[in-house]
Amino acid sequence: MSDCCSAPGLMPFETALNQLLANVQAPKKIQLIAIEDCLDRVLASAIVSPIFVPPNDNSAMDGYAFSFASINDTENIALDIVGRSFAGEPFTGKTELGQCIRIMTGAKMPDCCDTVVMQENTKVVDGKLTFTKLPTERFSNVRNKGEDISCGQTVFKQGHKLAAIDIGLLASLGVANVEVYAPVTVALLSTGDELRTPGERLGDGDIFESNRFALNALLQRLNVNVIDLGIIRDDKQAIREAFIRADKEADVVISSGGVSVGEADYTKDILTELGEIGFWKIAMKPGKPFAFGKLPNSIFFGLPGNPVSALVTFYKLAIPGIEKMQGMPFKPAAKFSAISTTKLKKSPGRMDFQRAVVSYDEQGVARVTSTGTQGSGVLTSLGKANCFIVLDSEQGSVAEGEKVFVEPFAFAFQ
Ligand code: AMP
Ligand code: MG
Repeated sequence: MSDCCSAPGLMPFETALNQLLANVQAPKKIQLIAIEDCLDRVLASAIVSPIFVPPNDNSAMDGYAFSFASINDTENIALDIVGRSFAGEPFTGKTELGQCIRIMTGAKMPDCCDTVVMQENTKVVDGKLTFTKLPTERFSNVRNKGEDISCGQTVFKQGHKLAAIDIGLLASLGVANVEVYAPVTVALLSTGDELRTPGERLGDGDIFESNRFALNALLQRLNVNVIDLGIIRDDKQAIREAFIRADKEADVVISSGGVSVGEADYTKDILTELGEIGFWKIAMKPGKPFAFGKLPNSIFFGLPGNPVSALVTFYKLAIPGIEKMQGMPFKPAAKFSAISTTKLKKSPGRMDFQRAVVSYDEQGVARVTSTGTQGSGVLTSLGKANCFIVLDSEQGSVAEGEKVFVEPFAFAFQ
């Protein structure tokens, strides 16, 4: 791991993210699983279509199929109806000029036909097909073989995370099983003598802990295996033992708290003792103290204790790392500009991720409103938000009506 601890001051957010991503790898273990079980799993190999979709030229309408030449330059046309093609029951004979067949939606086009007229534009008179409205061009109402997907076409790349619709698409290709990466196992723990689990009694100076619960829920959305190691006391030996156990059992160890420079902040010391520390001071707000490093068998993310800082650093740094470890390529967050409806306080020096609500007004203009107090312990500032206002490190305060960049939360963060 490249050493950056000696670098003075705070590491720029982008540098930290790039360094973190450069130090984690896609998993080696691959599983073959049924498509029914592959929601949110990541493809370990590309899916190449083994067939054309649709497999044949077919009718887009209930109606009649014929050769367009049969109705060219002719008035008062009446075509002989010589057969039928239904879905799953194609017409296997031949048609000649002046003949047509009855055809249903999705049924295979006979070889000698190129055009379909919809039933509503026809009338059968004395057993012959006549038209109330003629199709104006060849290939009307015909869906072409392979117009959705060609045989041999790459449908999904390696590293693609499979959504619900993708599973339908795999089924439509006749693919029953897919190769996916084995899920990552994450060990989760909180540090702090003041922390109590909901359900316990709060003593003087205690607080109910929230980080492990929010993080556990977010990790479930990421489809990883979670080992919950609970609350660890602010005690060097207890933290050492917890890290050793976590490192044995998991690919990723995530702790929260104890990562700053307080008396009882042992996380960095134990990480340095057991493994190596990559960086731990980032020029971002919230979340300055975030430790990234390696234990002998696992990747380590040391989140700050403050709930907002913990969740924002988890979202902006740990999730991209975990996704890469699950085999997904890094995708920068989508950003767009919006008008700030309020003043925003900011001092230069750190990149700000302020919590806000963005929406479009009646004119279609994006407007963004801060959720208010931005303290790193104010969890409601995050709960009410649907986006970050991202303010560059060097930027100062923002005036009401000024344009800012917003980054909508991904589904997995809400
Ligand atoms: P620390 O980083 O350990 O100094 O913690 C910073 C602040 O976050 C303190 O006010 C802690 O009480 C609080 N905190 C630490 N861990 C948690 C947690 N798991 N849940 C909620 N708050 C926490
Ligand atoms: Mg603490």
